[in-house]
Amino acid sequence: MKFNKLLENIKTYEAGKPIELVVREFGIEPKDIVKLASNENPYGCSPKVKEAVGDIIASMALYPDDSMIKLKNALSANFNVKDENIIIGSGSDQVIEFIVHAKANSQSKILINSVTFAMYQIYAAHVGAEIVRTQSQKHDLDEFYELYKEHKPEIIFLCTPNNPTGDAIDAKEMFNFIKKIDNDTLVVVDGAYMEYAQKKDISKKVAPKDLIQEFENVIYLGTFSKAYGLGGMRVGYGISSSKTIKELYKLRPPFNITTLSLEAASVALEDKEFVEKCIVDSFEQMKRYEEFANVQKLDIIESYTNFVTLCLNEGQNSSQFANKLLKRGMIVRDLSGYGMNAIRVTVGTKEQNDRFFELATELI
Ligand SMILES: *Cc1c(COP(=O)(O)O)cnc(C)c1O
Repeated sequence: MKFNKLLENIKTYEAGKPIELVVREFGIEPKDIVKLASNENPYGCSPKVKEAVGDIIASMALYPDDSMIKLKNALSANFNVKDENIIIGSGSDQVIEFIVHAKANSQSKILINSVTFAMYQIYAAHVGAEIVRTQSQKHDLDEFYELYKEHKPEIIFLCTPNNPTGDAIDAKEMFNFIKKIDNDTLVVVDGAYMEYAQKKDISKKVAPKDLIQEFENVIYLGTFSKAYGLGGMRVGYGISSSKTIKELYKLRPPFNITTLSLEAASVALEDKEFVEKCIVDSFEQMKRYEEFANVQKLDIIESYTNFVTLCLNEGQNSSQFANKLLKRGMIVRDLSGYGMNAIRVTVGTKEQNDRFFELATELI
């Protein structure tokens, strides 16, 4: 059977290995497995969410509220924007999909950082758009601008802080960059880890309201999968001009967010204290990774997120190292697929990190 030719060039996204797979493959008990591969919040979500979703189970027979009024109101209050500026996706992943389909086709170019979130490229391939990458590993906005002038891309993705490297763009520099971009190019600011970055360094903080107030051709993306501890609920959002949101809505399948997920995200957003505490604890624990890198003489990229990227030395091999850790029940992300001899480790709880240091010291 023949399928769409564009699919021939797409490599299926490889998600961080789930705990279930390690149980099956290596026969390790779930309690002995530590997953630090997908940048989830190791402390989970607010206890208030657990209480709230219990009540929702009773209304499972009914379709969700497709206007998503409760979550939209919560988001609009949180970010000081209007409901018409918001679209909600099954993860911000789905919003990325809407953006690419809405804006690009097989004649288009999409400009991204050399090392960045893999889904930009995969969705670009869906529509046959050409990916243009920078050379620099860190977002270098001068290089972005040169490539923008040369290629006139339909979309520019700025991932700040960036996954999988953890570095972040200075907010002022970003605004100055976007000012120079023509209105026909849509600039996507992916802030999946912004809650962490703005806590560590206010100069990295990008508020969606400021962005959309100044620019019509920008969309900001956020997610409940990271700091809010709701990776399993699949909720993300895009904030942009009402014009852009209207176009994206044409691509949205009805009822794309379940009743349970809508409730969980709405309640999670109210419990600011919980998220704050998780972020403070995460940066506290991150110091131990910096010490570990120091002792092991590894480079560590300064991180504005809840993960660290440990760059291995010559003679050390990241995929072998990640595999050895996996066999002992420690799941981390090998970055060799990104052309880096490095692993990405989510900063876990104190106990999870203890286990990482113990195994890593033995196996590196
Ligand atoms: C995790 C992540 C997302 C998307 O997460 P969802 O679970 O789909 O909301 C988007 N961008 C980056 C950079 C991420 O790390």
